[in-house]
Amino acid sequence: MYEWLIIGGGVHATTIGLQLRYLGLPVEQLALVDSHEKLMGNFKMQTSRLSMPYLRSPLVHHCHPEPFDLKKFAKHHQYAQAMIGQYQRPRLDMFFDHTEQWIETYSLEDTHIQQDAIDIEQKDNHWEVTLENGQLLQARHVVLAMGTHRTPNVPDMYAEQPDVQHIHQKEIDIHTHASHVIGSGISAAHLVIKLLGEERSEPIHLWVKKQLEVFDFDADPGWLGPKNMRGFQCEKDLAKRAEINCNERHKGSMPKEMYMKLMHAQEAGNLIIHETPITKVAHHKIYTEHESVDYDGIYLATGFKMDLMQQPLIQSIIQRKDAQMVSGYPVLTTSLEWVDNLYVSGMLADLELGPFARNIMGGRMAAQRIGEVFVKEQAALKKAM
Ligand SMILES: Cc1cc2nc3c(=O)[nH]c(=O)nc-3n(C[C@H](O)[C@H](O)[C@H](O)COP(=O)(O)OP(=O)(O)OC[C@H]3O[C@@H](n4cnc5c(N)ncnc54)[C@H](O)[C@@H]3O)c2cc1C
Repeated sequence: MYEWLIIGGGVHATTIGLQLRYLGLPVEQLALVDSHEKLMGNFKMQTSRLSMPYLRSPLVHHCHPEPFDLKKFAKHHQYAQAMIGQYQRPRLDMFFDHTEQWIETYSLEDTHIQQDAIDIEQKDNHWEVTLENGQLLQARHVVLAMGTHRTPNVPDMYAEQPDVQHIHQKEIDIHTHASHVIGSGISAAHLVIKLLGEERSEPIHLWVKKQLEVFDFDADPGWLGPKNMRGFQCEKDLAKRAEINCNERHKGSMPKEMYMKLMHAQEAGNLIIHETPITKVAHHKIYTEHESVDYDGIYLATGFKMDLMQQPLIQSIIQRKDAQMVSGYPVLTTSLEWVDNLYVSGMLADLELGPFARNIMGGRMAAQRIGEVFVKEQAALKKAM
């Protein structure tokens, strides 16, 4: 029987796992379930494919409980240009090195069970989680830290076409020569900048559905602190909270310096930005209303399907009478408890944590609240002894 079992092994699960270990949870009382070979595997795969040099989020957003720990780490290890810009955005490799150091210090990889969780059921005084290999795990507390999505979104017109790959698909053929990128968000921008860095003789083509949008963060930084979050938490109408999240997130935007790089490349003739909608893709050609352009290969940076809520494990919780939902999101206590001893982070915590719930910062907020539950229970146990 584990005391705490976390479903997921990404950024949020790692942040919550480190917090619990930091607060004194013994390693043998903790398990993290994720099918990736290593913790953080999903985020590492997504970002390394794009050769992202820096995170979009600031230096204080990382997986260790102490906000300035990454800053200390950068100084101690003397990373060159450890962070950039007004918001001190950290180097991505440094962010991973730092997380890796703490995973090792707290033996977090020893708690990692490399499996998918497919079902969950409440027993007398604990939860029972079924893994894909049929194994059953018991835990008193469960945390769902399963990210937002798993399935890349491939629009129908690309589905059966040759030499088309989604940048976030599981296996990618890096030998395919592709000069065309579809998408208008930060993944598309990173990818274009990576391809431009290869200094090809032919220009890169970026196909956008809307005008490129420039924002420093995924939402206004006011949502990172009490300035906006106080009002959000006072909002009693949870459907309104869901609306705020939807309106305040700058979906498909990029920071200014990336936008400027794209503009310079366009001016230099190394990048062609197509703003006319694509109507068809066939015979190795991209068609718009007025033209057709031959393509070598296409990288889709068209986001993901929002498939978290369709996971059977989540569905089996939704069926419960005590699992309340508003606007498609769980109704939680302030400790992020959805039903008895079942806690959540990420998108599942949208109604409590606001527009940054799904970012690294959301993982920190979840870790803090779940950590408080652990501390309270420890204190109660001590008192009872
Ligand atoms: C290209 C890119 C760049 C980004 N840059 C930033 C940034 O700079 N700053 C920022 O704050 N955010 C950024 N984000 C958002 C980022 O995805 C999150 O901050 C972070 O990954 C969220 O962590 P997570 O744990 O919720 O999701 P993930 O890190 O994706 O982890 C979720 C994990 O849950 C696992 N899982 C799901 N279902 C199950 C199951 N049933 N059983 C077992 N395991 C399961 C998955 O396999 C996955 O490993 C970026 C996202 C992308 C795609």
